[in-house]
Amino acid sequence: MRDGTVLVTGGAGYIGSHAVLALLDAGWKVVVVDNLVTGFDWAVDKRAKLVVANIEDEATVRRTMRDEGVIAVMHFAGSVVVPESVSDPLKYYRNNTVASRALIESAVACGVKHFIFSSTAATYGIPEQVPVSEESPKQPINPYGMSKLMTEIMLKDVAAAHPINYCALRYFNVAGADPQGRSGQSTAGATHLIKIAAEAATGKRAAVSVFGTDFATADGTGVRDYIHVTDLAAAHVDALDLLIARPEESHTMNCGYGRGFSVLQVLDAVDRVTNRTIERKLEGRRAGDPDALVADNSRILATLPWRPKHDDLETIVKDALAWERKLAERG
Ligand code: UDP
Repeated sequence: MRDGTVLVTGGAGYIGSHAVLALLDAGWKVVVVDNLVTGFDWAVDKRAKLVVANIEDEATVRRTMRDEGVIAVMHFAGSVVVPESVSDPLKYYRNNTVASRALIESAVACGVKHFIFSSTAATYGIPEQVPVSEESPKQPINPYGMSKLMTEIMLKDVAAAHPINYCALRYFNVAGADPQGRSGQSTAGATHLIKIAAEAATGKRAAVSVFGTDFATADGTGVRDYIHVTDLAAAHVDALDLLIARPEESHTMNCGYGRGFSVLQVLDAVDRVTNRTIERKLEGRRAGDPDALVADNSRILATLPWRPKHDDLETIVKDALAWERKLAERG
């Protein structure tokens, strides 16, 4: 067992619940703070403690930090639907930026030493160059990306002023599910491609829309860097070890595999895995979608011992499908 407890906000959600598994499997004690608005209590591994609260609830968060001996925060809680952030920006600035501010203040007040933040490639907006390095201009094109970038900026300033260091991990397209079947993407109203394709493959929807066939890519459909959620979770555990080993340093790192697949390549992979053909409806572009978004992941590879273990599109699809079938059985 490691010395100290990690507080995971949003630990009942998709990525957070996988981080909880990775931390527990690595021997950490874990306490989850989640308001269960989009998360599920059953998604939190029984070895972790679950506190149902908002992260702005300073009394509860600070009591939890002190009572549980929290040495680090992993912060996943927040709102994640990009189009909703355009129609309701204040919700995103409240749930992502203002709530993060309160959480960071609680961490500083309670002497928490390390903070790992769930950031996003949306902080880059439409990249000028692909693959995208961490030094690329940060020009978010929606309030979601801006709300996350603002939190990165707060962390930078706070780490310069207080004895806390941080790691901001900028995720590319997260997909798949725990290979042992302990968690997966369970949120209703999915918008992400691999989740949608998994729903189509399990009969929850009739077809998959292909949004845009005239992008500047090899087959005309959008290219993304899909990363298996279990690899992403492992990066957080390694980042925590780094923050502990080097308390004077903070880091910002892309999380991706450094290679992209088009929408059609993803759907082909689903067809290969299921041995069936999903119906594809060719449609117009969604607003604001870049042609290609692929990580330059040289920094994370140089900084952490982290190496991808599930960097295979069919594996990602297979794990996503297995979870989708489990959800269907659950009803
Ligand atoms: N996409 C699609 N059909 C869908 C959902 C997504 O063609 O039903 C495309 C989308 O235009 C993009 C890629 O799949 O090129 C990944 O989109 P997703 O929403 O999964 O993630 P994003 O990259 O927008 O964060």
